Amino acid sequence: MEKLIITNAVTGSLTTREQNPNIPYTPEEIAQAAIGSWKAGASVVHLHTREPETGKATQDAALYKEIIKIIRSECDIIINVTTGGGPGMSLEQRLGVIPELAADPSLKPEMASLNCGSLNFGILNRKKRQFILDDVQMNPWGHLLKFADTMLECGVKPELEIYDAGMMNNAQVLLSLGALKEPLHYQFVLGVLGGMQPEVNNLVFLKDSALPASTWSLCAIGLNIFTLGPLAIAAGGNLRVGFEDCTYIAPGVLAESNAQMVEKAKRISLEMGREVATPDEARKILNLS
Ligand code: ZN
Repeated sequence: MEKLIITNAVTGSLTTREQNPNIPYTPEEIAQAAIGSWKAGASVVHLHTREPETGKATQDAALYKEIIKIIRSECDIIINVTTGGGPGMSLEQRLGVIPELAADPSLKPEMASLNCGSLNFGILNRKKRQFILDDVQMNPWGHLLKFADTMLECGVKPELEIYDAGMMNNAQVLLSLGALKEPLHYQFVLGVLGGMQPEVNNLVFLKDSALPASTWSLCAIGLNIFTLGPLAIAAGGNLRVGFEDCTYIAPGVLAESNAQMVEKAKRISLEMGREVATPDEARKILNLS
């Protein structure tokens, strides 16, 4: 079995400092979080940008450049930039940073996320029966094709974000149109409101639906990453941890840092007898050129 690739999603677009004061917002904080998680064993960092003052989700090329420069001055972690962005962003906002960053070889991300379909997306306060976030993540066909074509042109490997079963076939459609190149890399995102939930059967179904030569990773919202994660480790998949998906390190205990979550994932994997990949080992496994 290949070594485990740990991706650290350091900040995301939705979690806030009200939930956990340790979530990085500024470029310096985001970059230092990435460097810390690299030291802890992560080989990929998944980046979003935030307005430094407010923490509001942005998709800002200038902020990405600042973050990537600091990361690159310290380490060789694989950089994966979001094109999911955050609620309410346009296609142009979400995708525009990719060609802009790819134009400069020192800032070019090796990977970018590509959401493989539309879905209801939200945050629910069950007690109040209120949707705090009531959104649709819009990714119609034309957009999917445009995102995949742009990444192909820029030489950026898509990480195919799979939130629901039908999205596996959407990826196949893009492949059949020549917009994706094998081997594919999937991120199975389980547990968002509106998508597949973090259950063993769902993960097994997605794993079995993946193309034979592909690689995959599990992202499970909340502490599910640590309960379902061992199944992904055992099945030859990879793991994503970090403040984008989870603010706790254990039930009732807030995480101190992204690195602490990476350390926990690494510890579990090593205990299970599976080694953890360095960035260069991950580059080979993911077939990054
Ligand atoms: Zn993200």
